Amino acid sequence: MSEDVCYCCGWSYYNLNNHFQQSPICLFPEFSDRQEELLKGLTMGDGSITRSRESGNFRMTIISVNEVWLRWIYAQFGDRLATEPTLAQDGETAGEQARQYESFDDSGGDWEYSDVYEVAIRSHPRLTEMRETWYPHGDIRFPDDLSLTPALAKTWYGSDGGLSWSDGTPHMNVGTWNESHRPEFLLDLFREHGFEPTYSEPLIRLFGDDRDQFLDWIAPAPAGFEYKWETESREHYDALKEGVA
Ligand SMILES: [Zn+2]
Repeated sequence: MSEDVCYCCGWSYYNLNNHFQQSPICLFPEFSDRQEELLKGLTMGDGSITRSRESGNFRMTIISVNEVWLRWIYAQFGDRLATEPTLAQDGETAGEQARQYESFDDSGGDWEYSDVYEVAIRSHPRLTEMRETWYPHGDIRFPDDLSLTPALAKTWYGSDGGLSWSDGTPHMNVGTWNESHRPEFLLDLFREHGFEPTYSEPLIRLFGDDRDQFLDWIAPAPAGFEYKWETESREHYDALKEGVA
């Protein structure tokens, strides 16, 4: 187990969370308003709020095959609030494990497993509060007073959204699996800001000018997801996507 240096007193600790809870001087570093919005969008998307022990504060882990995206997240929080992305599982090991099962289907030819990375937002009382607000009965439920902001929508769209090119001109969509029983609530999140989305379970969609205005509103794209903002050229979109996946 590695030690972490306290930003406040400069001493090293095996468990910074305990140090912040016990020290009369060294306090948990605070999230900025923007960081709080990024966290909400991640909670709606790729992030999960968990804790490793039975007591203590919750932390957030974000797991993805897109290492560039996780490095971007890390950079938004810095070392005080987050830990550097690490390789959670390499694709080769994941493939080997899967092939141990007789039912493994390798008929897809050179189908490969991807490396999976993980970044963590350190244990923090705010994340413990968020866990209570966002998982009132164990499962995630978007709070009734939820309101979109550019920073929140950026990490939500990065996690669960994308462009669909099926009809030549791409439309934007974002998946809402856990809230599919509340379509009007979901649509109001966008209507409140002047957008006119459509809903077809489980996707919210924006077309044309609405799509462009929404992507502008939540711009710039986070590193690793530039392709989700590329609406002009399918070729450029594919090239950007190829570079990170
Ligand atoms: Zn300290």
